[in-house]
Amino acid sequence: MKLFNCQNCGQPLYFENHQCPSCGRRLGYLPAQASVAALVEDGDLWRTPVAPGQFRLCANAVHEVCNWLIAPDSGEAFCAACRHNRTIPDLAVPGNLEHWRKVETAKHRLFYTLLRLGLPLATKAERSDGLAFDFLVAVGSPVLTGHADGLITINLAEADDAEREKTRGRMGEPYRTLLGHFRHEIAHYYWDRLVRDTAELDNFRAAFGDERADYQQALQRHYAEGAPQDWPARFVTAYASAHPWEDFAETWAHYFHMVDTLETAAAFGLVLAPHTTAPLDARIDFDPHLADMPRLIDAWLPLSFAANSLNRSMGMSDLYPFVPTPAMIVKLAFVHDLVHRGHGHDAAATLQAVAAGLRRKVGEPM
Ligand SMILES: [Zn+2]
Ligand SMILES: [Zn+2]
Ligand SMILES: [Zn+2]
Repeated sequence: MKLFNCQNCGQPLYFENHQCPSCGRRLGYLPAQASVAALVEDGDLWRTPVAPGQFRLCANAVHEVCNWLIAPDSGEAFCAACRHNRTIPDLAVPGNLEHWRKVETAKHRLFYTLLRLGLPLATKAERSDGLAFDFLVAVGSPVLTGHADGLITINLAEADDAEREKTRGRMGEPYRTLLGHFRHEIAHYYWDRLVRDTAELDNFRAAFGDERADYQQALQRHYAEGAPQDWPARFVTAYASAHPWEDFAETWAHYFHMVDTLETAAAFGLVLAPHTTAPLDARIDFDPHLADMPRLIDAWLPLSFAANSLNRSMGMSDLYPFVPTPAMIVKLAFVHDLVHRGHGHDAAATLQAVAAGLRRKVGEPM
């Protein structure tokens, strides 16, 4: 994520801020510029020094779940992120608004990266293979978080920290977040759009295996027998071992974790110059959306170790509770090429560069 500040008073801002905590200005996010803009009222609309013309706030601004701006002549009531919502929770039910806010915070961070990467986006109204979200509350039958034909369902209970943490413990997962859910489920959507009917399918099968293996059977086996003993060497998570589709989704989510966190570190000009002989030095002074794979990994290994160490100092669990392995990095390289395919990337060259260019040893905690 980029770093933002108020154009009126200079106060540093978070992506989610609706109002400047220092000068009180109303704020709005301009997706085209990827900037948080200080706003000045102009009749029913808003102006900002960041961009010419007038803007309207997304219709979801009234619920304080969205701060994104839209052009008033776009014909849209909702912003680029909210127009994909098909079902939102019943806001008359106590607790639902609070949980929906958390869901939207994660969803907007997902869309930030989708737009930064220039990935194809369309609503179901625009294209039959467009994207939609249902945010559902379980009433009677359970709600399963998942993806089917461009419809992503999120169980609103995942926004309840205690509930989600209970599920995380039951599933034996080291990491479970709303943002992680969005990054995982959107991967299934983009597999359909960028891999399924394309020349990438053979490369996908070479990296992840044959997805024609029966999916329901594979999941049943995973839940009955667990992951194979050697999964840490071959998969990013235990769940990734269930089926090539899940391996892809887990890897894609990790790619998003990595590039977004590196972008944040780069926005702060983070330099790691540790007092140790271990190879933990890093200068994160590049745009991860433009960098090649070896550069991303070379920065990610020391950064994630440093961030884990900071978290442990605060008595928190690790920021990145995973151990990257060479097998995982090859799969990450596939995702890297897939998301940059439109920008002249070459998958074979990337894989070669990954094999040859890694400066650091991977596959064990540093
Ligand atoms: Zn301000
Ligand atoms: Zn919105
Ligand atoms: Zn999945």
